[in-house]
Amino acid sequence: MLERINKFFRQKTIRGKAASGDVVASDEHTLTPEMMSVDALKVVRTLQKAGFQAYVVGGCVRDLLLGLKPKDFDVATNAEPDQVKSLFRRARIIGRRFQIVHVQFNREIIEVTTFRSNQQGKNSNGTRRQTDSGMLTRDNVFGTLSDDASRRDLTINALYYDPIDNSLRDFADGLNDIKKRVVRIMGDPATRFREDPVRLLRVVRFAAKLGFRIESKTAEPMRRLADNLQLVSAPRFFDESLKLFMSGQGLATYQLLDDYRFFDYIVPELSSCLQQDPLAAALIEQAFTNTDLRIRSLKRVTPAFIYAALLWPIVAQRATEYREQGESPLSAQRRAADNAIFSQVVVTAIPKRFSIPMREIWDLQLSLPRRGGVRAERLIGHPRFRAAYDFVLLREESGEDLEGLGDWWTRYQDSDAQQRLEMASAIKEPGSSRTRRRRPRKPKNSAKNVD
Ligand code: ATP
Ligand code: MG
Repeated sequence: MLERINKFFRQKTIRGKAASGDVVASDEHTLTPEMMSVDALKVVRTLQKAGFQAYVVGGCVRDLLLGLKPKDFDVATNAEPDQVKSLFRRARIIGRRFQIVHVQFNREIIEVTTFRSNQQGKNSNGTRRQTDSGMLTRDNVFGTLSDDASRRDLTINALYYDPIDNSLRDFADGLNDIKKRVVRIMGDPATRFREDPVRLLRVVRFAAKLGFRIESKTAEPMRRLADNLQLVSAPRFFDESLKLFMSGQGLATYQLLDDYRFFDYIVPELSSCLQQDPLAAALIEQAFTNTDLRIRSLKRVTPAFIYAALLWPIVAQRATEYREQGESPLSAQRRAADNAIFSQVVVTAIPKRFSIPMREIWDLQLSLPRRGGVRAERLIGHPRFRAAYDFVLLREESGEDLEGLGDWWTRYQDSDAQQRLEMASAIKEPGSSRTRRRRPRKPKNSAKNVD
């Protein structure tokens, strides 16, 4: 059946820009319906059967044209959110600023977006609100397919694929930009960046991830508009930061972010540390290098580890200051951690489920050197041991001298019980149990260092 439909459309392929975009003939692009996920196909078919237009759109089309595996599949339609919802058993409308429908399947969620328009008042119930700086706080005015294309961020993301007739609609020469490997924003760059400053980050993310060049008109206002990043809400900024750091091209992304001076807006307190301390800069680069390697070898990466690395130079620097003022190492480091996290969550809202393990990784940096006697065996059983050990290796790889600590723990993990005992008993450390027992007790009501 599909083959028959395809044949029909192959014969009828047309070229020419219209409200339906530049229709690219099926023999002029490399997409096939089989490349789509079965669930995306189901969504498109159901919507079209109900009389609506529906296309696979966005990153999945772009990635498939580049021969890459798409992260997820998005569908665009002229059906409004409640109409979409009524067609599927497990669907829910999410978002306020930008309403979309999540259609849930066993293996994946398909995001269904209603065509949006840039114009005001196209439909009675939709809203499109802007702040004085031009930022969109509501973007729910529905429109036509071509309206929708013009409000997408990049030309390479404004490609609409119909898997039923195997046609591709290209509204802004996106196919050509894919071939030329160019990231180009749709419309007037400054206006589009002001409407939604996250687009500044998206341009950088796709340029780095795909190894594309940023087109000159797109790049021209980017540095000037960096300040607009302050307007991005902290939860959204956190989500975007993860997409930047965990794209598999974290190092290239970081370098480009730094080049455009965007990184200072993501982790504002880091910039002074980076200027003062060459070890800090090395640590950040090494953290991204390691993350990229782990992603490439399909190992788990956690935002807790990445953020622990990004904030570590700030924590370490402050902890030194507090220690110099007489605080104990643990107390100083914990206070520094509190301060660093407190300032950072205002910018990128790191959820507790990540900030708690971050603190544990940092605490363990103080515990791992103290590994004599029974301590080593206790430490290795700590739920955060693995991450903390990786963190020690990261610090050493970036040039910090920890007196062979990483190597010791590597050997310890590779040893049998007897060897472990020998290794742990050979450790002479200050603060071991005997030294501690000799210390005079503090009077009961003396002030404690409370963290
Ligand atoms: P990936 O999923 O690989 O990160 P993507 O391009 O699919 O990349 P999504 O965030 O899934 O990114 O968005 C889907 C599509 O929605 C995009 O391709 C783009 O067309 C559009 N889009 C996303 N964010 C914006 C934005 N801030 N402004 C305009 N259009 C956007
Ligand atoms: Mg996507």
